[in-house]
Amino acid sequence: MTRIFLSLILMFSAGCLNVNIEDEPQINHLGIDDAFHEYVLSFEEAWGHQVTNTDIVFVDSIPGMVLADASTSPSGGLIRVDKSKWLVNHWDTAKKVIIWHELGHAVLLRDHVPQPDDSEAPVSIMQPIITVRLVSDFGKDPGPFIDELFERQADSAALTWRCFD
Ligand SMILES: [Zn+2]
Repeated sequence: MTRIFLSLILMFSAGCLNVNIEDEPQINHLGIDDAFHEYVLSFEEAWGHQVTNTDIVFVDSIPGMVLADASTSPSGGLIRVDKSKWLVNHWDTAKKVIIWHELGHAVLLRDHVPQPDDSEAPVSIMQPIITVRLVSDFGKDPGPFIDELFERQADSAALTWRCFD
């Protein structure tokens, strides 16, 4: 059972960044689904700021082995999570990493870092595919991942802010 679950997680891609500054302004009323609140709260605690103007919603299906995706525009961020894939995932740390990864895109405006090969230790939750090793390492010691996530944020946010200005 565990083995099946772990290999499912291995195959999930966490999604991709889509910054589309050409988008027409949208009104975001979707909010954050209750299922994600605890992960958003822990993200805010680690970050030291509140997540605003970002919606996190369930959708019926995202094609392929993608569990979640994120998009950003001047009107706000949107994170979509495939409900059926989310519900078969019972590993709380994996859920946390996935939501934090998408918030990295939608809120911190982070892009992906290169995917490490199998012999390398993960250094960032912004690698494109969330692997068992990443989640396991994060669960043992999240400190380096938290430092990397929020330290890198300052540069990319500043760049994007100039684009939006
Ligand atoms: Zn991603």
